[in-house]
Amino acid sequence: MDRRNFVKTSLAAAGTLSLSSMGISLDATKTHALSLSFDDGFKKSFYRIAEIHENYGLNACLNVIATGHLKSFNTEPKWIPQQLLGDFDDWNKLKERGHEIMPHTWEHLNLTEVPIEKAKENIGKCLDHFETHLAGYSAEGAVYNFAYNASNTTLEDYAMTKVSAVRTGGWLVLKDSKVNQFPIKELPQRLGCWGHGPDFCDQYVEQEIHAFLASDGGWLILNLHGLDEEGWGPVSTTYLDELLKRLTKVDFLTVQPTGEIVKQLSGK
Ligand SMILES: [Zn+2]
Repeated sequence: MDRRNFVKTSLAAAGTLSLSSMGISLDATKTHALSLSFDDGFKKSFYRIAEIHENYGLNACLNVIATGHLKSFNTEPKWIPQQLLGDFDDWNKLKERGHEIMPHTWEHLNLTEVPIEKAKENIGKCLDHFETHLAGYSAEGAVYNFAYNASNTTLEDYAMTKVSAVRTGGWLVLKDSKVNQFPIKELPQRLGCWGHGPDFCDQYVEQEIHAFLASDGGWLILNLHGLDEEGWGPVSTTYLDELLKRLTKVDFLTVQPTGEIVKQLSGK
């Protein structure tokens, strides 16, 4: 019997007892967790992504660049033009509405391609900026999202001294699996994610989620960016809306930001 059927059978055997009277939270029925982890901080897209999530009672997983709002932000790579990026007023407003805002680098460098001391300094400056500019930010339960999902164990270990989890390429940390452990059992965690670009990723997302829902479960993290014309590998607004509408009807699935799942273990 796979875990999903085991949980369902166990709950059925409990008869008329309510879950809460048994001390079981509804999340105990969830065998599958999905995080749609949006990077870079496109202002127009991120407000729209938040609205779409709100329509289905969900919180969005939004990862932003600490210096992206500054005119000095390097407009390379071409997928992240500075004028499209929001600032910490926007991020605080979205956080106030219940969405998750997490660090996605200081200046969007590939940290595996710069000297290690500069890479560590970048991680430190990014996290300090969040401490001072994002209301209610706590390092405990936080997820650091590597730019380009590029990292190595030295950089991951360093970041994990400062936050509860890092998100990087699934090909780097997940070995033979597409999914992360769920529920997670220890912190800090190296979380692996997957993505597709530079063109629209609707079809890729659909395929990955379809296969995931047919599997025994785990925690799938898909890395997305902007909507429609914004960002690398964009997802279309209409597809995201239709997808979340469908997914909220799947009883064994929870759709949550990465940090929310990490915080369930950190107790925060
Ligand atoms: Zn990025």
